Amino acid sequence: MRLSRYFLPVLKENPAEAQIVSHRYMLRAGMIKQQQAGIYSWLPLGYRVLRRIEQIVHEEQQKAGHIPLLMPTLQPAELWRESGRYDDYGEEMLRITDRHKREMLYGPTNEEMITDIFRAHVESYKSLPLTLYHIQWKFRDEVRPRFGVMRGREFLMKDGYNFDIDYDSAIHAYNRHMVSYLRTYERMGLQAIPMRAASGPIGGDNTHEFLVLASTGESEVFYDSAITDLKFGDRVVNFDDWTECARIVEEWTTPYARTDETHDVSLFHKIPAERQKTSRGIEVGQIFYFGTKYSEPMGAFVTNADGERVPVHMGSHGIGVSRLLGAIIEASHDDKGIIWPEGVTPFPVGIVNLKQGDGAADAACEGLEKALLAKGLEPLYDDRDERAGAKFATMDLIGLPWRITVGPRGLAAGKVELTSRRTGESEEMSPEAAVAKVAEIYAGI
Ligand code: ATP
Ligand code: MG
Repeated sequence: MRLSRYFLPVLKENPAEAQIVSHRYMLRAGMIKQQQAGIYSWLPLGYRVLRRIEQIVHEEQQKAGHIPLLMPTLQPAELWRESGRYDDYGEEMLRITDRHKREMLYGPTNEEMITDIFRAHVESYKSLPLTLYHIQWKFRDEVRPRFGVMRGREFLMKDGYNFDIDYDSAIHAYNRHMVSYLRTYERMGLQAIPMRAASGPIGGDNTHEFLVLASTGESEVFYDSAITDLKFGDRVVNFDDWTECARIVEEWTTPYARTDETHDVSLFHKIPAERQKTSRGIEVGQIFYFGTKYSEPMGAFVTNADGERVPVHMGSHGIGVSRLLGAIIEASHDDKGIIWPEGVTPFPVGIVNLKQGDGAADAACEGLEKALLAKGLEPLYDDRDERAGAKFATMDLIGLPWRITVGPRGLAAGKVELTSRRTGESEEMSPEAAVAKVAEIYAGI
């Protein structure tokens, strides 16, 4: 992509309404535009990151055997009357009436609708286990939308729902979700710690939240620092193996880690003093087992192996896809701008031409662009007629993890410069070597 042809409305000034760094940088880097309180347009750069995050979520869900579908944003009120939640949900639910005076709502979550799909089509235990998920916009009329995409009113969520014949099978589904989430967040360059949580309006008694440690987080968290040493890495998991999944869950849930809602002071004080940590955290996901809470009232029954009709055991599992952009920036930035982890960066590498219009520099940049594209790596090439300082400032603000700088002086010696956004370290090398190095960095991502 050539920057001269792109749409990247970078702001020079700090927007006054942004109280936290991620919101400030998302606005300044031209990633989002607020349209109403808590409702945003995703401008091209922000949209690219959103799509990357979605892609990682899809890949990891499908590795775990979960099946994607897509449900609508608008739902009929009747479904929510069946579960009893239409009145319970309160003012956070956006209620709408159509021209025929039919009551509808903009979905804040989808337990009712997925249960309706399930009961219409599944009859027998032989169709189980089954986990269906989608990535879809949600609306919650939050009292205080704030911090940009972190607490929006309209926001993108991955929500998945498991249907199992009994408790043990549903707990395996719960474990499978925890394991797949650990890998999902790591691929985004994040450490998200599963913490025991209290159940909210969705209900249930077995639940963990995934929290990213950050001073701007809205939750207070207490944990044993040993948990921050755990790394999932690229281990290959057999998601059908109940014992293997349970073992990984045990590994991550044995060290103490809880939000203020479930914090237990006496347990906390049993951890060696130097490992007792208190921090703030951003909730980027949550998993729930809630048994037959929806299947019983809504009639989602199947025939079991003995021929009896039994309600299915369910759970729901969410990832805050749009909130993740904010969380990643909170965890990865400096005073010049964002520092994208390679897994989610909008472009893998930027090219800065120090002397636009210089025949050799232009040709070298175009050559780099072609060579990178041939390796499946689309660079963002700053081909504007701008001062070098302004080009560097833009690249630093938008946070591409790697930058190739091309100038007439280096080229005379056959060299370009490859710079890491994270460390600021630069290395001179031939254009071919720079392309090879960038390709090598992204090979495992
Ligand atoms: P919170 O406690 O932050 O209000 P929640 O517990 O009500 O969130 P869940 O029902 O668990 O939210 O939704 C799953 C995920 O969706 C959350 O873990 C969070 O990452 C994301 N999410 C929830 N509310 C919002 C929001 N208003 N804006 C952006 N993301 C959100
Ligand atoms: Mg939650």
